[in-house]
Amino acid sequence: MFLRKTSLLLLSVFLVPSCLRAQDHVAAKPKPRVIMVGVNGMELDIIRPLLLKGQMPNLSHVIENGAYGKLRTVSGPNCPRVYTTLFTSTNPEEHGVTGFLVGGITANTHMLKEEPIWSMLSKKDITVGMANVPATFPVMPVNGYMISGMLTRGKNCEDGVLCAPKLSEVTGGDAVYPSKMREELLKNVGDFYIDCERMPSAADLKDHEAEVIDHWLAKVQTIRDQQTKLFDYLLTTHPTDFTFLAQSCEDRTGHWLYPITPFNVGYNASINSVRQGAFPDQYIAFDKVLGTILKHVDERTYVVIVSDHGIKPLREFEEKDPHAHADHEKTTPVIAKHDFADGDDVPGSVFVMGPGIKRDFRLMGLAASVYDIAPTLLYIYGIEQPKQMRGRVLSEVFTGTENKVAANK
Ligand SMILES: [Zn+2]
Repeated sequence: MFLRKTSLLLLSVFLVPSCLRAQDHVAAKPKPRVIMVGVNGMELDIIRPLLLKGQMPNLSHVIENGAYGKLRTVSGPNCPRVYTTLFTSTNPEEHGVTGFLVGGITANTHMLKEEPIWSMLSKKDITVGMANVPATFPVMPVNGYMISGMLTRGKNCEDGVLCAPKLSEVTGGDAVYPSKMREELLKNVGDFYIDCERMPSAADLKDHEAEVIDHWLAKVQTIRDQQTKLFDYLLTTHPTDFTFLAQSCEDRTGHWLYPITPFNVGYNASINSVRQGAFPDQYIAFDKVLGTILKHVDERTYVVIVSDHGIKPLREFEEKDPHAHADHEKTTPVIAKHDFADGDDVPGSVFVMGPGIKRDFRLMGLAASVYDIAPTLLYIYGIEQPKQMRGRVLSEVFTGTENKVAANK
């Protein structure tokens, strides 16, 4: 509520002066540039072999030239719950977006009770661009643009269930800020899908498993291609100081096509032996998206890749630790999940590269957490961490000298 009420006021305060300032101080020092990429549920266990085999060359480039490690997540992690912690560095009970459904209503930005990073950056005259980021619907005013992601509502959407509308099919709020940018996107990028395809139901799959799997995977690739085109367009024609782009098809694939063996719970040969490479292939495809994004990266750009949680095959306490299947279509034969009560079972990951970031540096254990992302971003921009933030600056990823430079900004 706080933000919704104040956002228009904020805009009127910062947008007009920033236009004037651009003309008055042509030679002003450029602000740090950050491109953040969110990959929902990226699982290190799956990507490690791909890295070893050289099948993710772009992520390998970031690892060799930057710092990376596991990212401790919150308990019972799912995308809206964790992304909102990434945005605010507060816990789900504090920020209000506790899951896919909050009080029976699909999580949305009206529920935000803590100030998100895009608002803090906008207030400091930093330009912000966001696309496809989960739990950003309806979009909010920023000093730049915002295109919503997972949980955008539209045609055929039921509360709490994913539905993947196209931009033209969005209902119940704006998916694009500023609203005039919507027409521009439809014209230059096309009518792209927001979010990823919902998973098929058990009834859809029965007796047509291979056909349904192949059709679904082809649709996922179409969506990824559209979103890659969107990202390339935005980075080319609307560059911003802070850009946050996200992908969600990887997680969706893992839930029902994780490469489990007959040993695992839920193994169904007619589904799970059909395309065993389907889930790893998502990360190989993601790496190509990353390659497109990295073309827009120069030596003064920070690249921050974050995964909100991992994903693992079902575990022995599944019975006592009920799975919120509603988040992915109630009847899909789910064989892997991430909303375990102990978030340490499914840590996310973080990869950082940029000016003053250590190279080939690995964060050990669970030292870094999803709470630390927003404070670290503020630190890069020289903005003091507000009191409500529970995380810390990931100072160990910065080299000593550059650390001081950053602190003095
Ligand atoms: Zn998921």
